[in-house]
Amino acid sequence: PPKQRLLVVANRLPVSATRRGEGLWQLEMSVGGLVSALLGLKEFDARWIGWAGVNVPDDVGRRTLTHALAQKRCIPVFLDEAMVHQYYNGYCNNILWPLFHYLGLPQEDRLATTRSFQSQFDAYKKANQMFAEVVNQHYEEGDVVWCHDYHLMFLPKCLKEYNNNMKVGWFLHTPFPSSEIHRTLPSRSELLRSVLVADLVGFHTYDYARHFVSACTRILGLEGTPEGVEDQGKLTRVAAFPIGIDSERFIRALELPQVKDHMKELKQRFAGRKVMLGVDRLDMIKGIPQKILAFEKFLEENPHWRDRVVLLQIAVPTRTDVPEYQKLTSQVHEIVGRINGRFGTLTAVPIHHLDRSLDFHALCALYAVTDVALVTSLRDGMNLVSYEFVACQASKKGVLILSEFAGAAQSLGAGAILVNPWNITEVASSISYALDMPADEREKRHQHNFKHVTTHTSQEWAATFVSELNDTIVEAQLRT
Ligand code: UDP
Repeated sequence: PPKQRLLVVANRLPVSATRRGEGLWQLEMSVGGLVSALLGLKEFDARWIGWAGVNVPDDVGRRTLTHALAQKRCIPVFLDEAMVHQYYNGYCNNILWPLFHYLGLPQEDRLATTRSFQSQFDAYKKANQMFAEVVNQHYEEGDVVWCHDYHLMFLPKCLKEYNNNMKVGWFLHTPFPSSEIHRTLPSRSELLRSVLVADLVGFHTYDYARHFVSACTRILGLEGTPEGVEDQGKLTRVAAFPIGIDSERFIRALELPQVKDHMKELKQRFAGRKVMLGVDRLDMIKGIPQKILAFEKFLEENPHWRDRVVLLQIAVPTRTDVPEYQKLTSQVHEIVGRINGRFGTLTAVPIHHLDRSLDFHALCALYAVTDVALVTSLRDGMNLVSYEFVACQASKKGVLILSEFAGAAQSLGAGAILVNPWNITEVASSISYALDMPADEREKRHQHNFKHVTTHTSQEWAATFVSELNDTIVEAQLRT
């Protein structure tokens, strides 16, 4: 039988396009969690719909890019610059992202955001409508349409307006906040109602799902049931689907000669010192200043560790054009400089801070030689870095210190040392505990996490979501 078609709709396509001539495009595939999840989904015929990340104003460009992308099973949605500014930078990244991560805006930005709110929300709806139009053009009966993330909360409603028989699922990759937070959003009801038009709504954790159901009961006055949310006899199924990683890809990488060489170099470079590692986008939600302050406190209180430990912090630049992110960068640089000045020697510094990304193989080598990984997110939908670290630790069995505010704390909690990143005294003593942890305890904790990471993979996550979506629709048909 022909495979079931899966239309995966996300703001960004998993491809970056650069124009090399009037009709000439260079495409680069990026392998995020979602891509590897769907590559592993052999039972479906999947294609992608989304924005290619470039402004293409002319017809020739649009036609040739569409053609080039088709070979990668990608279908573009074209958004112009004004739209990207209002919908993506504005409503998505300035309003929804901070709100869903419980971050307040700086006081001076707050009123400005309040004023521009309506025009940005209008742009958001319009952008979602444009995504829906492209989905509708490519939709064939029986297809499953899987919408992703906070960029596309309006999409389920737009899709069902085109065709009420479409099978529509929506998954959120960020936290969904307490209903007390969601209440403050001027468009709170419209967004909830639109998401509820989907057949299945998924979150990383049970808590996020529960927050969503509470928002629907308190703000919309609907009925929450163990299955989801009910509105006049129509059930929207709501459930938790914790994402995973393609753990095999990491485990295999560690066998490559170039990765082994790199590991050897790193071991030599840091011989005699324990290696601690942080890998984060340089975002407010990652708690990087809190992490570094906790590390300082640890050095303060444990003089005997000062020349025997190093913290490698990879801080991947993100949204570098936004003033708040620039401020965070200089704040982090200042703290790192102060600590290195205070505890450094002529030959060594305690913190190596890198404002850049690493390629996959370098990252794997780094994960593998690490003794203690430090994840201090203030809020984080899941946090895949913690999973990737565990996947690379089969021989070293290092320790994971993990924020209780990362979704991953729900799944790796028993193997990791959980911390409140705001409590730097607690984080400092956890560092000390982790560095001194006896081998048998490390082994036990690692086994727990390794088993979880290698069995709850991204492929399994995607397969579960899609089959649950199919089942939900069958059950709904049985009810009517
Ligand atoms: N990552 C990367 N290059 C780097 C650092 C990180 O490709 O130099 C990847 C990392 O492997 C992980 C992702 O970025 O898959 C970060 O995902 P996570 O869920 O931890 O956080 P997010 O950035 O999505 O908030």
